[in-house]
Amino acid sequence: MYLKKIISNGFKSFADKIEVNLGDGITCIVGPNGSGKSNIVDAVRWVLGEQSVKSLRGSNSMSDVIFSGSKNRKAMNVASVELVFDNSDKYINIPYLEVSIKRRSYRDGTNEYFLNNERCRLKDITNLLLDTGMAKESFNIISQGEVDSIISSSPLERRKIIEEAAGILKYKIRKEEALRKLDRTNNNINRVNDIIYELEDRIKPLKKQRDNAIIYKENKEKFEKYDISLLAYDINDINNKINNLKDKLDKYNKDYINIETNSVNISSKIENKKNKLLKLENEYKKLNSKLIELTEDVEKINSKKLLLVEKNKNKKDIKEEEKKLLLTKEEINNNKVLLSNLKLEIDNKNKKIEDIVNYIDELNNNKSKVESNKKIIEKDYSNINLDIININNYINNINHQLENDFNLPRSCKEVINSKELSGIYNTISNVISCDDDYNKALISASLSNKNFIIVKSDIDAKRAIRFLKDNHLGRATFFPIDVIKERYVDDNTLFLIKEDDAFVGILSDLLKYDNRFSNIIKNQFGNVIICKDLDSSNNLAKKINYKYKIISLDGDVINVGGSLSGGSSIKNNSISLKMDLKKYKEKLLIKEDELKQLEDELNDNNKSLKNFDDEILKYEKDKLIILEEIKLKENNYLVISKKQDELEKVYNASKYLINDDISKEIEKVELEYTNKVIKKDNITISIKEVLENIDKVKIEIDNLLGEESLLNTNNKKIKDEINEIELDINKYDIKIDNLLERLSREYQITFEKAFIDYKLDIDYSDARVIVDDLSKKMKSIGMVSLDSIEEYEKVNERYLFLTNQKNDLENAKSSLLNIMKDMDKIIKEEFINTFNSVNLEFKKVFKTLFKGGDASLKLTDADNVLTTGIELVSSPPGKKLTTISLLSGGEKTLTAIALLFAILNIRSVPFCLFDEVEAALDDANVEMFGKYLESYKNKTQFLIITHKKKTMEFANNLYGITMQESGVSKLVSVKLKQK
Ligand code: ATP
Repeated sequence: MYLKKIISNGFKSFADKIEVNLGDGITCIVGPNGSGKSNIVDAVRWVLGEQSVKSLRGSNSMSDVIFSGSKNRKAMNVASVELVFDNSDKYINIPYLEVSIKRRSYRDGTNEYFLNNERCRLKDITNLLLDTGMAKESFNIISQGEVDSIISSSPLERRKIIEEAAGILKYKIRKEEALRKLDRTNNNINRVNDIIYELEDRIKPLKKQRDNAIIYKENKEKFEKYDISLLAYDINDINNKINNLKDKLDKYNKDYINIETNSVNISSKIENKKNKLLKLENEYKKLNSKLIELTEDVEKINSKKLLLVEKNKNKKDIKEEEKKLLLTKEEINNNKVLLSNLKLEIDNKNKKIEDIVNYIDELNNNKSKVESNKKIIEKDYSNINLDIININNYINNINHQLENDFNLPRSCKEVINSKELSGIYNTISNVISCDDDYNKALISASLSNKNFIIVKSDIDAKRAIRFLKDNHLGRATFFPIDVIKERYVDDNTLFLIKEDDAFVGILSDLLKYDNRFSNIIKNQFGNVIICKDLDSSNNLAKKINYKYKIISLDGDVINVGGSLSGGSSIKNNSISLKMDLKKYKEKLLIKEDELKQLEDELNDNNKSLKNFDDEILKYEKDKLIILEEIKLKENNYLVISKKQDELEKVYNASKYLINDDISKEIEKVELEYTNKVIKKDNITISIKEVLENIDKVKIEIDNLLGEESLLNTNNKKIKDEINEIELDINKYDIKIDNLLERLSREYQITFEKAFIDYKLDIDYSDARVIVDDLSKKMKSIGMVSLDSIEEYEKVNERYLFLTNQKNDLENAKSSLLNIMKDMDKIIKEEFINTFNSVNLEFKKVFKTLFKGGDASLKLTDADNVLTTGIELVSSPPGKKLTTISLLSGGEKTLTAIALLFAILNIRSVPFCLFDEVEAALDDANVEMFGKYLESYKNKTQFLIITHKKKTMEFANNLYGITMQESGVSKLVSVKLKQK
């Protein structure tokens, strides 16, 4: 390899582009002082990566190397230098026959590097030239006046020359890199260890929590599966029972109605029969009196006939008879008047009796109407009674729930009921109430805070939290009165919303509560606006830019920011329970009123029935009295009538005695007698028929009464059954409500879904045992954090990752240490070998150059080859070994050159650039120097800047540098005679 050319443009005094073509062997550059020769050395140093401005003889910045202008030329903005190497022997380790290295610098401080015209980094160039003998640290470029510094530099600086010669710089750099990596690796190991220690502290308790959580979760999942299955099973089972009971109830109700209808039918039949009986009895009475009348007539006619027959036999004195006749006639006439009066009276009485009987009939009809009405009222009465029982059951159930606070978490209950704690009031929902209109809104507003516990002070709250922790009772939120501040809607918003018709009020203003909880209630509800309905809530929310929570009277919520929540109302918190309680109590009052009304109606009915009975009794008595009177009158009538008959008989007989036509009379009487007898017989037959009918109707009435009593007994039985079934249905309804409520509250699942998705896959009793066991197990586990599972996975993953990383880092560290050990071994070996070889050569060259004398290199710390410096001992001929500083300038230069040549002897260097290194030598020594240079002709290329003619004599190529145009260096090639 050799340097083919140096191309410079704008570098220092070389304002114009110059190209220095170098051949093999020695090239000398000559020229007057200040013409710019040393600028070529600077250019070569610069392109090879020199970063020190001072080394390049600049003052401030790297822009000092750019042509700064002259009298006639303007300053340039960019400087560039390019070195072109022949690399056909692949000395530089890249696959190019020619290698170009270029650097360009701008006034703004920007530097650009190019390798074969491709942009690259300075590092790429430095790495490429490492251990080629052309590196920055290398000895192959010696600037003006620097040769002595080889001698006068410190032992450690001198060591660098040997290191470069030994080619171990690359190992040193790699070792430094390895050291830096080792340092970084150690830092990383320490950092990873710190994190690992921290994670180890966390991971142990976290694992315990996570294990508990997994067990809990497994138990919980299994528990939920079977609990939901059992709930669905129970609900279905109870539902079936209710359906069966309802079917039964339907049947019983139908039976009841049928029996009731039959009973009414039978009652009306009985009434009809009784009426019929009454009519028959009246008919009988009429027929009987007619019979009596006819019997009497027959007897009378018979007597008359007998009298006429007698009369016909015995005739008496007519005059006597006529007198008697007159008297009798008179008495008869008197009796007739009496009888007619009696007859009238009797008729009147009978008429009265008829009226009374009719009236009693009417009363009986009315009574039976009242009785059927009473039955209906009694039915309503028992229904309402049943309703009252049901409502009372609901009320008891709600009271039970409220008293036992079923919906309150265990932690809250324990705190509120604790005897150990003080300053505990109650939950927020238990200290507030409101008018019915605001209940739904309040339920929605209290969803999150209903179980917050109000306490007197933060100290009380802390005690309560400690109590919960110590007893593993779960968590609760506390609101200390002395800490919590009031909150309220701001004035601007209040002004805006008050104008709106939809605005109802601020929730805290609508609630009723004890004034000592005022700040807590305002804190929770002072920023909640109540509005009429969802639509108007929406408008209002827009108006106030969704700044506050708005709740409609129906319980729909527009949250801060605009999200909406709503749906059917939530059951079974204490507020809704109280609401239900109030509703049921009102219902109860209504039902009790209705019951009272029915009781009054029943009493009225009973009273009117009693009145009917009293009245009927009274009329019956009247009837009897009148009948008695009639009897008396009739008797009287009968007596008078009898007497009248006798008188008339006497009269007629007397009259007959004076009448001649008795035979005719007898015929007439006989005819009359026969007619009457026929009539009498007919009446007797009719009476017999009527009596038979009466007996028949009586039997029918008895049968009907028997039927009626049987129906009543059956009806009572059915009624009892109905009541029992309704009570059972009611009990099951409450049970099913509770189960459904559990499904919804605890699992947010509908029965239909639960029934389809959660079929029992084992026996019911086995599932019940599992659920009880799991419930106990979960309770015994206590508080678990389900988040700990995921958190543990994350922490553990990180822990494992870091542990792996730590292992990787430890492996990297040990491999770095091995590499460094190997490097040190190589460095030591190479360094010592090179040192010994150079030392040997140095002695030889020294002796040659000084024609005698002695010189050597010594290690300052032979035990530590890696760090030792190098001492140089020089003893020119005839002089004692002495310190370097005492040598003359020429001796120093010659010693330094001896060392340079010694190194060149053992290490091939492609080119050397020496700037006036031989300036201090006398001609004889320059001659020696020149010859030595010549001896390296085929190994090393030399570029020598010199003023010495003697040196020039050894040159194969010669360039002159001039500065014709003031301030700008020019290159002139000088033709040499062929040697
Ligand atoms: P000597 O033989 O005395 O060592 P030399 O030939 O080596 O001299 P240099 O030191 O290479 O000369 O050149 C110095 C010259 O370069 C000076 O004239 C200086 O003004 C000029 N110079 C240095 N930097 C710049 C720059 N940035 N722009 C223009 N000219 C510069």
